[in-house]
Order: sequence, then structure tokens, then C-alpha cells
Amino acid sequence: MDEKLLDTLIICPKCQALHSIVELEEDTKAHCATCNTLLYKEDSCLVDKMIALSLSALLFFIISNSFVIVQIDLLGSEEFMNIPAMLLRLFDSGFYIVGLFLSLFLFILPFMTISIYLLLGVAYRLGWSGAYAKNLLITLSNIRLWNMVDIFLISILIAMVKLVDLFALHLGIAFYSLILYVLLDIYLSKSIKMFNLWREYERRYR
Ligand SMILES: [Zn+2]
Repeated sequence: MDEKLLDTLIICPKCQALHSIVELEEDTKAHCATCNTLLYKEDSCLVDKMIALSLSALLFFIISNSFVIVQIDLLGSEEFMNIPAMLLRLFDSGFYIVGLFLSLFLFILPFMTISIYLLLGVAYRLGWSGAYAKNLLITLSNIRLWNMVDIFLISILIAMVKLVDLFALHLGIAFYSLILYVLLDIYLSKSIKMFNLWREYERRYR
């Protein structure tokens, strides 16, 4: 089947029925004719929403990496920890694989994902070149599956709950900022679908 034809079809994620994509009115939804599952919707402020969400997420990401995430009172001395320092300490102690793994999933991939959402929003809004937008879209579809920061946050929370019994822990501003960042990240990936981003691309560049 040729690619042009495939672009006009969508498969229901629940019952696998095949549907042709039709132009929708703004802010309306298309449902599966067989099982009524939501197939796609037309969001009139998709681009502005993406810019606003990714800009806020980026801000919370920067705060959570710049300030103290946790303060530990250890035998009378106080330890202040932040995420980049914790990662560097892993490398210093020779835990290269763990350090690399955590840096990738806790720092590099989340930062890349959020930046690409923001750049893509700005590219659409300011009408940057189609080739540039397409590269961003392809990179985004490849890396967003690997963005597992929410899983890591839950691991950190569990670790902290265990540590609270052993040490006196005081959670810093970066900790709360990290929670807000993760919530925004989850909302962003749930509310802005790749399908709609590609549709937006087709509309603007073809
Ligand atoms: Zn269906």
C-alpha cells in the first residue's frame, strides 16, 4: 500500500477497525464506529498548549536540577544533595554504568524530550522550515518512548520513605519542583499526541 494512502487511514487502538481520517471541526472528536473508542480529536490551540506546557516543564526541570533536593542530618553534620551532584558522585565512586544509566534516564532524555516539544512548538508558531520540524518530529517519536522519568520519581520516593527511618531528611525546593515537573511531563505526553503533531505538520507544510 503506498504511503500517501496510509496517511489517510487510522486503526482503532481497541478493536483494530480501520477508518479513514476525516477533517474535523475545531475542538471536536472522532470515535470508532464499531466500539466508540476515541480515535483522535482536533485541538484548536495544540501549538500554544504545547509551548506553554513544555516551557513550564523546562522551568521546573531547571529548578529541580539547580537546588537542593534533600538535606540529610548525619551524625551532627548536614549533607545537602542535588541531582547533578549525586550523579557526579556516582562517577567519582566508580559506579560508571549506574551513573551513565541514571544520567541518561533522569537527566539527558527528559531534557531532550521537553526541549524538542518546545522547539517544535516554536517552529510551528514562527513557521520555521519544514525539514527542521520534520527532524524534530522524528526524533521525538523515537525518544519519547524512552522517557521514563515518572518511573524514576516513584523509585526515588520509595527510597526516601525508607531513608526517613534511618536519617533525618528534609526535602528541598528541588524535590517539590521535580514532582511538578513529572506531573507536567505526564500531562504533556498524554494530551499532545504524535498523531496530532503530524497532522499539524501536514497542515502547515504541505
Ligand atoms: Zn473500535
